[in-house]
Amino acid sequence: MSASGKIILMKLNFCSLSSGSSGNCYYLGNEFHGILIDAGISATSIRKFLKNIGISMQSIMGVLVTHNHSDHIKGLEVLTRKNHLPAFTTPKIWESILNPRTKITRDCIRDIPLQEKFHLAGFDIEAFPVYHDAPETIGFQICAGDKIITIATDLGHICQTAAPYIKEANLLVIESNYDEEMLVNGRYPYYLKARIRSDHGHLGNLQTSVFLADIISDNLSHICLAHLSKNNNTPEKALQTLMQTLSERGIKLTGQQQISVLKRSLPTEMISLAE
Ligand SMILES: [Zn+2]
Ligand SMILES: [Zn+2]
Repeated sequence: MSASGKIILMKLNFCSLSSGSSGNCYYLGNEFHGILIDAGISATSIRKFLKNIGISMQSIMGVLVTHNHSDHIKGLEVLTRKNHLPAFTTPKIWESILNPRTKITRDCIRDIPLQEKFHLAGFDIEAFPVYHDAPETIGFQICAGDKIITIATDLGHICQTAAPYIKEANLLVIESNYDEEMLVNGRYPYYLKARIRSDHGHLGNLQTSVFLADIISDNLSHICLAHLSKNNNTPEKALQTLMQTLSERGIKLTGQQQISVLKRSLPTEMISLAE
């Protein structure tokens, strides 16, 4: 509320800089500052993409890290070192990231607890565990004013712990990694296909669509389908599977609800929400 008693609505902006098995990085911010989620593309690309959408590196207050796979941490070392930027993840994930080849400066390392809120750049953030083939993987629920943003990009299935964080979101970034038919008939070796489809792998288009059809409500205003596979999916297939699943259940989107498919190697259009 302002001094004059008027309610001031703060604008919240979300932009995916890159999303997919070749690299992930997401921006969330308001007029004053912002945060990044993952740094799976080069620090140079992150800086360039942010500049293109009018965001300065100085406004970034930290990076949240979901797990140790290179498509989520490729740019982390350089990004944190060059910008004196703190990075936040659990002690177990730090343990899996830090090795003689990945040297994150000690003063950039911040430990966060699981399922306990912490505060950064005006956001209340909570990490929740998901099932994925890394030593530990987390999703993030980020609250700003009365808006909830949930990011869950690498998970083999949606477990009972993760589901509530996903269901509460107003803006949801959720994995839609592969088209079942393309994966089964594709050129990947059997063990890799099995790994991707396992409970500790990735969410397929149909799995994500069925889950979304179960939980969709008017509160969920923005759905961003994320982390699409280069070889086993297309944006058209991900979107078509979701639309078909919703239509089979008789679910119609309201005029306020938007679905986007995040681009693999370029920023996707900025989404603005009023806080
Ligand atoms: Zn990934
Ligand atoms: Zn991963």
